[in-house]
Amino acid sequence: MTIDFTTATFKDFENIPEYDIAQRADYFYQFLDHMKSRGHMNYRLKNTTGTNATLNINIANQNKEYVSFVSSDYLGFTQHPKVKEAAIEGIAKYGTGTGATPLIGGYFDYHYALERKIAGFFGRDEDEAVIFTTGYTANSATLQILMQKEDIAILDMAVHASVHEGCAFTNKKTFPHNNLEALEHILKISENTYRTKLVVVDGVYSQDGDTSRINEIYDLAKKYNAYVMVDDVHGVGILGETGRGTLEQAGLLDKVDFITGTFSKTFGNLGGFVITNKKIASFLKFQSRQQIFSATAPPSSAGIVKAIDLIDEEPIWRERLWNNINYFKKGLDDLGLDTGITCSAIIPVKIGDQNKMWDIGRILIEKGVYTNPIMYPAVARKDARIRMSVTARHEKEHLDKTLNVFDDINKKLHIAKK
Ligand code: PMP
Repeated sequence: MTIDFTTATFKDFENIPEYDIAQRADYFYQFLDHMKSRGHMNYRLKNTTGTNATLNINIANQNKEYVSFVSSDYLGFTQHPKVKEAAIEGIAKYGTGTGATPLIGGYFDYHYALERKIAGFFGRDEDEAVIFTTGYTANSATLQILMQKEDIAILDMAVHASVHEGCAFTNKKTFPHNNLEALEHILKISENTYRTKLVVVDGVYSQDGDTSRINEIYDLAKKYNAYVMVDDVHGVGILGETGRGTLEQAGLLDKVDFITGTFSKTFGNLGGFVITNKKIASFLKFQSRQQIFSATAPPSSAGIVKAIDLIDEEPIWRERLWNNINYFKKGLDDLGLDTGITCSAIIPVKIGDQNKMWDIGRILIEKGVYTNPIMYPAVARKDARIRMSVTARHEKEHLDKTLNVFDDINKKLHIAKK
């Protein structure tokens, strides 16, 4: 056994050929103890108040308030009174669960309303959307049923895990992030080899917060007769003149073959969706394994319909979000920290070394700031970073407090760009 606990990551325990499941779990348990003994366990901390600019977490039986950057509730809609009211009305009317899968009785009128609402949000016909119980399954279930052994999925290497999982039954090739030459090469050699070719990218990438080179990618894909799928969970509600996301910004809303997304971020709830043409949409509704075998989103999802309306009715939330993003990013940049190429609400502070990142994560917690330390496999091994999501709910005092903590950390640990 060669795993070194000081440099190990969670992934190193996934498969150790000489160890069975009990031995791997035992070894992993020791790794967690090692992390705890060094104050590095910033994961699965117990939130006792809900998602907001500040929240309480319980660490070592101490319940304290922290400024939070760990939530993708970008517009703060989990706490919006009108969204809560609509969710509560849903529960009052229907109860707390649906008790069945969509195909056999779990499809309620609020699911129907939501499908139509989200299709309309993207300017599509009302039967061009399918909803799923999570964003993860919107990606994985859709790809699993559409893409088979005669086909090929061509993925930007930085797409979400759910996209990779959806490719279990098909051929899959990845191209380096946003690299058009590599993509064209794969498209060229695939053109006459596979039945269906599908290029999958994220609108906004979840670890760097940068956007896809979607216009060029779209043109290339079409040149080689490939479909295009864009997972825009971190762009919808944030980018684009009216908040329709990366594709609105790129002028491609009515062009790409599949838009996938989530209701768990901007819309403050739970669930996912796929926008496509009406024939593929009904194929998914009857053929996707998740639609056949897994229960539908609970009645509190009625709140999503209100959240979608609020994007147009209350643009103030998107304005507040952008003011916060610009202020916070400038503050970090002014300290000399490396925020990379973000152009969204996801702001990383790149550290590089994993152990240094853990130390910084620990200091941030000690000083009352809750962030996400991100390491391999979410990013490359030497690219560890502190990842933060800015929301419309942050006040200037929250951002200033955090900037001060980063300033102190930088003075102590010299994390500014050289
Ligand atoms: N795609 C991306 C790019 C994501 O970041 C996430 C969530 N982290 C998902 C899909 C899955 O969405 P959900 O959490 O709603 O399952």
